[in-house]
Amino acid sequence: MSALLPYSEDIKKARLNTQSLGFPSQTLSVTPRRFPAKPLGIKGRLTTALTVGIATVVAFTSQAAIALQVQVTPESPQLGDTLSVMIDTETTTQPPSVSIGQKIYPAFPVTANRYRALLPTTPLDKSGRLEFQVIGDGEVRNLAVFLKNRSFPTQRIRLSGSANRSATELELNRVAEFKTLVTPQKFWNGPLVKPNAGRVSTVFGVRRYYNGVFAEDYYHRGVDYAAGTGSPVLAPAAGRVALVGRESQGFNVHGNTVGIDHGQGVLSIMLHLNQIDVQEGDFVQAGQRIGTVGSTGASTGPHLHWGLYVHGIAVDPVPWRFDGIE
Ligand SMILES: [Zn+2]
Repeated sequence: MSALLPYSEDIKKARLNTQSLGFPSQTLSVTPRRFPAKPLGIKGRLTTALTVGIATVVAFTSQAAIALQVQVTPESPQLGDTLSVMIDTETTTQPPSVSIGQKIYPAFPVTANRYRALLPTTPLDKSGRLEFQVIGDGEVRNLAVFLKNRSFPTQRIRLSGSANRSATELELNRVAEFKTLVTPQKFWNGPLVKPNAGRVSTVFGVRRYYNGVFAEDYYHRGVDYAAGTGSPVLAPAAGRVALVGRESQGFNVHGNTVGIDHGQGVLSIMLHLNQIDVQEGDFVQAGQRIGTVGSTGASTGPHLHWGLYVHGIAVDPVPWRFDGIE
């Protein structure tokens, strides 16, 4: 068995096998989306069909000879989604991993010979073909999914200058350090809990113009809930409190902050809190009160900002909230 197949080989094989064997595409495990996807154009449909073909053939030929079986959900991802890559191996000597370009994402055991890696995507990614490699069992599988484009709302911000607060080294360092956490145990279970009862005031992924200039690197890295000061803030899932930062210590922009490690590179960060009820090192359960809504840091009124991070990248919490990612 060749260790490395170039993309064109994989595609050829995929076409060949799906055509000659008539392998049904339903074999690919698919998590249905809560919201129906926009209809794709003919080109989009073709690309998706080809992508499904590739993933399908991997699953099929694996049963015959190849050690690595790979399944990706959701079937039809869009910008901001978290990709779940399920990998079945024959050996348990070393866990497999997934790479996109230079970046390597770890896979964690699900059952004896099954591993799962999570890949974050963002509004800053290019839509279209997303190529990745699965490495394990002495093999490298080149695979691809089609990442659908998605339009995000935009905001126009006028900066006056005086209203600007700048972040301190302390808060930047502590938040950056928190975002690097990848601990082996998985603490979340099922769909995440809504962290505050208020309405969503700003959705994930909003893009901005500052004084008329589009901010290429900016997207709203979380969800905002509008609620009064003192409204309870709940842990979206179980986990270890790994960051507590206070405005009084220099958290000028984030304000009073709680960061929760849900395990395996999945983190929540809650900003602008009024009161903080937990300490670093505490273990919290899903739905447990961790503090209250406030307007500390760079905030124009009481609200909760909840950022959900996967391997240091802010992803759309919506699929996590409604479908859950297991
Ligand atoms: Zn926000």
